[in-house]
Amino acid sequence: MEKSAFGTIEFEQEYGYDGRDLGAVYTKDSTTFKVWAPTAEKVVLRLYEKGSAEEQGDCMLSEVNMSAEDRGIYACTVQGDLDGKYYTYVVTVDGIARETSDVYGKASGVNSQRSMVIDLARTNPEGWDKDEHVTFPLEDTQIWEVHINDFSNDEASGIAPEHRGKYLAFTDKTSTLYGDGVHPTCVNYLKKLGITHVHLLPTFDYGSIDEGAPGENINWGYDPVNYNVPEGSYSTDPYDGAVRIREFKEMVMALHQAGISVVMDVVYNHTYSLDSVFEKTVPGYYYRQDEEGVYSNGSACGNDTASDRQMYRRYMIDSILYWATEYHIDGFRFDLMGLHDVETMNQIRGALNELGEYGKCMILYGEPWSAGPSAFRPGAVPAVKDAVNQLDDGILMFNDDIRDVVKGPFNQLEVPGYVNGRPNMEEELKQVIRGAFAADYGCQPDTPAKLINYVSAHDNSTLWDKLVDSVKRDKSYNVRDEKLLAMNKLAAAIVQLSKGVPFMQAGEEAARTKQGEDNSYNLGKTLNQLDWKRMYEYQDLMTYYTGLMEIRKNYPEIKELTRESADRIRFLPIAKENIVAYENGRLLVIYNAGEEEADIELSGAYRILIQNGRIDLGKSRTVSGQVTVQGISAAVLEKE
Ligand code: CA
Repeated sequence: MEKSAFGTIEFEQEYGYDGRDLGAVYTKDSTTFKVWAPTAEKVVLRLYEKGSAEEQGDCMLSEVNMSAEDRGIYACTVQGDLDGKYYTYVVTVDGIARETSDVYGKASGVNSQRSMVIDLARTNPEGWDKDEHVTFPLEDTQIWEVHINDFSNDEASGIAPEHRGKYLAFTDKTSTLYGDGVHPTCVNYLKKLGITHVHLLPTFDYGSIDEGAPGENINWGYDPVNYNVPEGSYSTDPYDGAVRIREFKEMVMALHQAGISVVMDVVYNHTYSLDSVFEKTVPGYYYRQDEEGVYSNGSACGNDTASDRQMYRRYMIDSILYWATEYHIDGFRFDLMGLHDVETMNQIRGALNELGEYGKCMILYGEPWSAGPSAFRPGAVPAVKDAVNQLDDGILMFNDDIRDVVKGPFNQLEVPGYVNGRPNMEEELKQVIRGAFAADYGCQPDTPAKLINYVSAHDNSTLWDKLVDSVKRDKSYNVRDEKLLAMNKLAAAIVQLSKGVPFMQAGEEAARTKQGEDNSYNLGKTLNQLDWKRMYEYQDLMTYYTGLMEIRKNYPEIKELTRESADRIRFLPIAKENIVAYENGRLLVIYNAGEEEADIELSGAYRILIQNGRIDLGKSRTVSGQVTVQGISAAVLEKE
């Protein structure tokens, strides 16, 4: 079969498969294996005792020739209780036999060499049957993005050494700084921070870390191997495929018990390499190629998967639903969403909505860009910024314009934005405050409910490092600096008070530094981990963030995400450099990015919520006539 046939309607009509039984379907008496392999001449199932050939006691238990069925399916049923046994398929295409784990595998041995038959019921921790999704209205959503390792690797985290960097760190709900009993850390900390969603960097099985011996290595995990299997290096035993599943569920349940939604970062747009389970099973089908057969590389990772082909689109939908239902995941963040097509994203949204009320509340957002061009099927529309209004409601995208306006371009470290000293940014700031892309961008979202607002994420510098590099330029990342703290607070205020859903990198609220490294994906544990001691050294900043989140929660005029609510924002004609002021419902918001204090005339009396870097939720002070706004600060006043 020619690879050029893969993208055709004729191929899909003949080979498209919509059965719900792909993978290993387990019962106590027998297990049925089904794999979609329309180009294969032959598929053989191999059953093994262990997850890898290197383990003691490993042996091949049996080999079974699978029978060819309609629509490219190969199937067989093996009698007996196979729970815990490992398996592979040997798929022969054009005379070449390749041994591979299962595209639809639900469990894996160490480093994913083999899939595992699993009785999922036995992976449920105690109380799992009572665990429910935790969801929030979009307008109350506050996202905190963290890597499993970074969360608890620091010994100051107070987490037991054997659980540091693991799923199980999330199950400690009483951890404190060095165990001092005073300063909450990890989930104990998150309960009080004011965030609603923990967004976990990749937690599906990825390839760059040796699960058996991770040592000091970490990786962000944007190198997927098995999308439906949790990563093994975060488990306490990567050799037993059941352990990571159970511990992942314990993590989710613990976050739910803390009242927190769990968002998974999903990277369906490329795989670790072309030496993948997909390529070994149906060579060429799952990846985009141009007319000469050259594999696309819009991911800059060597390959692009083909969401615009029926069986990969279907795979993505199945995978999302599997995580949502089997693991109780509450939301998804799509890496390089611009490499997926709009139709696929809309179908995923639709499939989640059909899960019922909780499904409709599950958040779904992505990066509306790619790292380069990709050979989309003719007619497919990439899910990029330009397609913002073709994406259904409930699909959000990162607004990189607010990020760059507020703190400066992500890729020019020394160039500042509004808060850190770049002049003449007032009009650009006004634009993004109302929930929009930059004014000169070709299109605009029809509602701010399509936007994630942020000034830091795992990619690029931390906010603090960007401030050091653009203002002081002396690499003094570890030196406390009041001016930089003021800039940090001003940036946080803009994100929290603008139209769109707030998002932050873990530790932004405490001046997190990575010593200026703007791409730390494989730079080891120590550089990447959250420094819990530093978190409390910057407790004043943390308190400011918490106060901002509390204000946002309490004022519908801030958090409402309709276009009408954004249009109600009225900017005041203040002819002062670096000042942007606006009325929004009961509130008057003033940003002053200049170094000098500014006096702003007031009509009537106001209660002070925020002034000069401090938040007063009790609104104990009033002001009338005029208000003084310190240099580099935000003021928020409520009309009496
Ligand atoms: Ca792995």
